[in-house]
Amino acid sequence: MTGGVVSSLGKGIISSSLACLLKASGYRVTIQKFDPYINIDPGTLNPYEHGECYVTVDGHEADLDLGHYERFTNVRTTRANNVTSGRIFQSVIDKERRGDYLGKTVQIIPHITDEIKRNVKALGNTGDYDFVITEIGGTVGDIESLPFLEAVRQLRWELEDNCLCIHLTYVPYIHAAKELKTKPTQHSVKQLQQLGIQPDILVLRTEHDIPAQMRKKIAQFCNVAPDAVIQSVDAPSIYDVPVMMHEQHLDEIVLRKVHITPKGQPDMGPWKEFLTKMHSATRKVTIGLVGKYVELQDAYKSINEALFQAATYNDCVLDLKYIHSERLTPDNADEQLSGLDGVIVAPGFGQRGIEGKFVALKWCRTHDVPTFGICLGMQCMVIEFARDVLGLQDANSTEMDPHTPHNVIDLMEEQKSISNMGGTMRLGAYDCTLLDGSKVAKAYGATHVKERHRHRFEFNNDYRDRFEAAGMKCVGENPATHLVEVVEIPGLRWFIGTQYHPEYSSTVLAPSPLFLDFMRAAIAYRDEKAAK
Ligand code: GLN
Repeated sequence: MTGGVVSSLGKGIISSSLACLLKASGYRVTIQKFDPYINIDPGTLNPYEHGECYVTVDGHEADLDLGHYERFTNVRTTRANNVTSGRIFQSVIDKERRGDYLGKTVQIIPHITDEIKRNVKALGNTGDYDFVITEIGGTVGDIESLPFLEAVRQLRWELEDNCLCIHLTYVPYIHAAKELKTKPTQHSVKQLQQLGIQPDILVLRTEHDIPAQMRKKIAQFCNVAPDAVIQSVDAPSIYDVPVMMHEQHLDEIVLRKVHITPKGQPDMGPWKEFLTKMHSATRKVTIGLVGKYVELQDAYKSINEALFQAATYNDCVLDLKYIHSERLTPDNADEQLSGLDGVIVAPGFGQRGIEGKFVALKWCRTHDVPTFGICLGMQCMVIEFARDVLGLQDANSTEMDPHTPHNVIDLMEEQKSISNMGGTMRLGAYDCTLLDGSKVAKAYGATHVKERHRHRFEFNNDYRDRFEAAGMKCVGENPATHLVEVVEIPGLRWFIGTQYHPEYSSTVLAPSPLFLDFMRAAIAYRDEKAAK
């Protein structure tokens, strides 16, 4: 899957939609993404660069598209599903240092391209999948994606009919002329052809319906079969896209190209049930998300999607309000928070915006609003409670104040000797035992869960007894290390903080039980307020 003209056309969504359809047809599918940037992984990237950093079960800090892959396919991804130029180069340089190239000059072609090809084929070689969809990040014409496209060109020859290329391009609508324009698509396909790659299928992203005649013209200009030119019109929701793609036979065309006779129609039953709920919901549930990246729609992607799924399954329309933690003060808290049915306090790093999170948490705790703290959000719950209820005025996390007299959140022991920033947090899925009878255990319907982590700091167990005596209970812990993973205040409607990120594992067909329960609490609170 390559992209042309501009970025942000939704290669990840088209890849995910195709995977969703193939999976529903009984095939084993996975999706991988190759990112042409030099960072080893996006873990060290600021959310302003590429949005949220997604975390896989095996603890890889990954591009947020992997979140879409999981949400659409319900198939877990791993480190092997996201490879950057940085990782390719590092691996080649390591091999060079080891002497693996036996004195040869190490070059982009063949060494870098071979390394890319080895990685492209790695998941397929496990034998676990019938289809591996490979998304090449960036846009055709970028200098940095050239080695990836050269690898694609070579693979097309090596894999023959077991391989096909889908190119996603853009057909802009010029408002002044009231016309759709195909030229950018023609140019981007030409660019691809110049690199030796002939696309088999074109997906045209557009804001308006593209007439059949125009699609035929594009097919002619681009050497693509007329029925293999598909449009992807802006949809009300990303979750509509698989069905839209199926209506235009994307999955059947793919199967035809690789000479597979379809086994029948994909079973999209459960997916369509979700869509029916999504389209028929009318009642609003208003959730506030308190964080510092509120102007950035991708920064909290997985949380947004988990909330959306939870609202949909509860037959509601999600009304998500972003609340800038830097602008929240005791003076405006009433005005900013009083209309909300539930509040999420977001994950994050560093001091900026932290005081606003405390303001939100104090307001929510004292007004008994359903509140969900995730990672830093949970840590803030603990700090705010320590300051306001335990009377430990300068309580803090040593992340924000290394000299705090009350380090209720502290650096994990195994983190103390680490100086390298990349891939060194507590990452990936860890076991968590939940206290029987706690709200969180009831939400999951289980006392043992496994969720994904991304943090360096933890609840300081030296303070545990004081918290519990005052009403904040540590209801989830890692069975091996006794790290506190979940806190809750049982006396309140729904006041739960998780050190882990349940949003990463929430998918359309398997939504997070914790988000579902939070949403139920928010809806009940909304109805309670309305009845007053
Ligand atoms: N900054 C906090 C820590 O490292 C929380 C991280 C997060 O919210 N993902 O522990």
